[in-house]
Amino acid sequence: YWMRMGDLRVSDNRALSLASKQATKDGIPLIVIFTLSPQDYVAHDRSARRIDFTLRNLSKIKITLADLHIPLHTIIHAPRRTLPSRIMALLTDFGCTSLYANIEYEVDELRRDIKICQLSRNQGVKPTFVHNKCIVEPGVILTKERRSYAVYSPYQRNWLTVLNGNIPYYLENCPKPQANSKYIYESKKFAPLFDTPIPDAIEGFELEESDSRRMREVWPAGEDVAAEVRDRFLTTKARSSQLGAVSPLAEGAETTTKLSRILKYDKERDRADRDTTSRLSAYLSAGVLSVRACVRASMLLLKTDKVDGGRTSGIGRWVQELAWRDFYTCVLVGFPRVSMGRPFLEKFSAVVWEDHQAPEDSTPAAGQSHRDGEVLQKWKEGRTGVPIVDATMRCIKEMGWVHNRMRMITAMFLTKDLMIDWRVGERYFMEQLIDGDLASNNGGWQWSASTGVDPCPYFRIFNPYTQSLKADPTGDFIRHWVPELRKLKGPDLHNPSTSAAKKLGYPGPIVKHGESRERALRRFKNPGEQ
Ligand code: FAD
Repeated sequence: YWMRMGDLRVSDNRALSLASKQATKDGIPLIVIFTLSPQDYVAHDRSARRIDFTLRNLSKIKITLADLHIPLHTIIHAPRRTLPSRIMALLTDFGCTSLYANIEYEVDELRRDIKICQLSRNQGVKPTFVHNKCIVEPGVILTKERRSYAVYSPYQRNWLTVLNGNIPYYLENCPKPQANSKYIYESKKFAPLFDTPIPDAIEGFELEESDSRRMREVWPAGEDVAAEVRDRFLTTKARSSQLGAVSPLAEGAETTTKLSRILKYDKERDRADRDTTSRLSAYLSAGVLSVRACVRASMLLLKTDKVDGGRTSGIGRWVQELAWRDFYTCVLVGFPRVSMGRPFLEKFSAVVWEDHQAPEDSTPAAGQSHRDGEVLQKWKEGRTGVPIVDATMRCIKEMGWVHNRMRMITAMFLTKDLMIDWRVGERYFMEQLIDGDLASNNGGWQWSASTGVDPCPYFRIFNPYTQSLKADPTGDFIRHWVPELRKLKGPDLHNPSTSAAKKLGYPGPIVKHGESRERALRRFKNPGEQ
């Protein structure tokens, strides 16, 4: 079984389960391989945090598998174009007859796997690639014209019907792998694989000491951790506030309400000043938690044999968010150009963006290869003078995660108020996020930039100040991340006067929203014009 970056778990893992079944049937050992491919990580703007999270989860998986006498063999490989032949060489060395893997839907990865299929045919290895990332796999839900949906609502209605029509398949709990014979330790070929270490870091993707410590604390690795994060969201009382770079498992003050967070999710999910969402994205993106298990858990909660994906209950609303994850993956598969830096709505290819780079002779910021201009740098560092944007950007920088609504506000701000190309923001998010996922990140960015599938129409530009009042009504989110402003209250906190800001050492806004809104409207209405 070839484990990939998006399926870092032993339980409910389709390819692993199938590989184990086959090995048991044939009476041969199951071995697991993992390839670390730094050139791919560079090409896909993978964050060092995501790589570190991968390695930490692999260390846990290695122990779980060793208890089943299954070795996890990890290799670091470059150049990436020779990875297929390296894999084939490994399979030959181990005398493998079959290869199982879960499908990765990104274009480079699909090309690589096609190459593997071609090579394996010549070597007598039977390759089996299966769907595991989504609840309903890409290619099932199509329009009447047999194309991928580009609008979410009809997709989601169909998704629910298809899912409820075949729950045993779509929500299958794939059996855990069976143990290999303990005599594997006597094999000269396989026994040494148990000793191959998981590296602590990959060159070029090392985390600074303090970040490394914080990531371990905030996003602990392991399937048991992920299941606990999920169960707390589904069943325990909401905590009144859980702000800051703390683990989703950190204890917070309980509210007096009896409702768990999921039961209030339909009403409260857009609030950044409260602990309102599941914070499962890091675990879902890396596949530490099975998305099928999330839906199964929602059914147990409702005590029904059908999936609720409606808008009027917290549970249904949450399941809808899981469907967004499926939707964006289907978009990536159906319209692969979106992952190649192209807008889904081609008419917006010509929109004129502001120059975001510093002059050629300037030095890039520490740890970055980009020559960011002043405006872009201020956005990245949370110094735009717009409190909700600054709080969001500082939160991302510190903990590699922020609420969905805040991602939308800051992405809209970059692309409409600052008129900076969405691809620049997309890349920065990938470099920072612990949950970085090409399909969801691209989907979110193109939605905010109005260039994507089912986008926010270009003329509906968020006003960051009114958005701020709605998303952070108590102001706790801003006060936590922008402590300079903590003495301000009410609307002043969300939009401080020039004199108040100056007194507190906080910058004035880098753009006037009214003026920048007009500029964005003009440029989107007439792509190609200033
Ligand atoms: P919950 O609200 O508890 O939702 C549960 C799960 O549903 C999430 O963990 C996630 O897997 C999925 N989900 C929720 N909302 C979305 C959505 N809009 N699109 C796709 N899946 C969703 N999500 C990522 O996983 N990786 C990314 O790289 C990413 N980049 C984004 C960039 C932008 C500009 C925007 C607007 C959104 C992005 N999202 C991304 C989607 C969303 O913001 C996060 O999934 C969510 O904030 C994670 O928090 P949570 O786990 O508490 O979510």
